Amino acid sequence: MKHKPSTRAIRTQTRKTAQKEHSTPLFLTSSFTYDSAEDMAAAFASDSPEVNIYSRFSNPSVDEFINKIAALEGAEDGVATGTGMAAIFGTFMTFLSQGDHILSASAVFGSTHTILSKYLPKWGIEYSYFDMNRPETIESLVKKNTKLLYLETPSNPGLDIIDLEQVSGICKKHGILFVVDNCFATPAVQQPIRFGADLVLHSATKFIDGQGRVLGGVVVGRKELIHPIYLFIRNTGPSLSPFNAWVLSKSLETLFVRMDRHASSALYIAEKLQGHEKISWVKYPWLASHPQHAIAKKQMSNGGGIVTLELKGGINSGRKFLNALQMISMTNNLGDSRTIASHPASTTHSKLTEAERAAVGITPGLIRVSVGLEDPADILDDLLGALDKA
Ligand SMILES: *Cc1c(COP(=O)(O)O)cnc(C)c1O
Repeated sequence: MKHKPSTRAIRTQTRKTAQKEHSTPLFLTSSFTYDSAEDMAAAFASDSPEVNIYSRFSNPSVDEFINKIAALEGAEDGVATGTGMAAIFGTFMTFLSQGDHILSASAVFGSTHTILSKYLPKWGIEYSYFDMNRPETIESLVKKNTKLLYLETPSNPGLDIIDLEQVSGICKKHGILFVVDNCFATPAVQQPIRFGADLVLHSATKFIDGQGRVLGGVVVGRKELIHPIYLFIRNTGPSLSPFNAWVLSKSLETLFVRMDRHASSALYIAEKLQGHEKISWVKYPWLASHPQHAIAKKQMSNGGGIVTLELKGGINSGRKFLNALQMISMTNNLGDSRTIASHPASTTHSKLTEAERAAVGITPGLIRVSVGLEDPADILDDLLGALDKA
């Protein structure tokens, strides 16, 4: 198609009904009907999502969301799921069997760690971790039974970035499936398939929804890889609800303008906070001080919406900082129109020991700011006020 991705995010639509509606309606139906017994028999004989049978299998609202995100990621096809975790788990379950090994970045989302370390071993699937900051060690960690390599770039919450092209070279050489969680960048900022990823997945709950309303997930890639994931999801049940798909599909129409604003405000805030007396470092992919800034410039079109910083005062400062915020929300979600701050060491990860936190990249004073769409001056004011009291 000749149109640019930002146009396709807006113009990809489900075929109009007899009403000739402009905005795609919500197809809130559990099942679909047939004109004859023969048509019904033919529908059930097929394992394709193209014939609508039952909304666990396919639904026009879900299809529209899948088609839009596949277009944005430069992928042939996709499958949508009820949450990001269902996309991750469904992908692992589709391609990993007993005796296989998965090589994952150590800096991955908490529940992804739990799948790797608590559930996969129950089914005889081994895992090991590599360090995002030491890509030169990856090849030595590949085993004969390594089937899949998994990473997030930028990572949550450490904002580690890895050269996708370099990792894809290793995967191709060893015949390993390369899967990227693109949640922090979104396809408006980075398309990992262009750099050799086989499958790209998302928690659509974050920037894709962008307004903190619904949960969702999606995985995209080549048809021959997507079809077996589709069958796994269709048969085991974590399908995306048509309502959530309809919300997410509408969200994609504003993804590019939202990501531009998230990123310009995030850069403004990161630059203003650099060098503040209460902060030991500020990390943001578009700051020249980011350790992988050059790689970020190569594979991303802007720095995204997340800024992290380290408070000199550690855990206690982090708690005081959160308590002193006036406008910014204290919640664990991210990628919202409203700015969110979190201090993992005193909240979501407070049950871990300091050493356990360090192993997943969470330092005592780490603050993660998901920069929202408010006026950037107001966001900065609130952050500076809380820093005063931290
Ligand atoms: C939130 C998140 C997930 C999990 O997504 P859910 O929609 O909450 O299931 C996976 N990966 C990353 C990077 C995330 O931030």
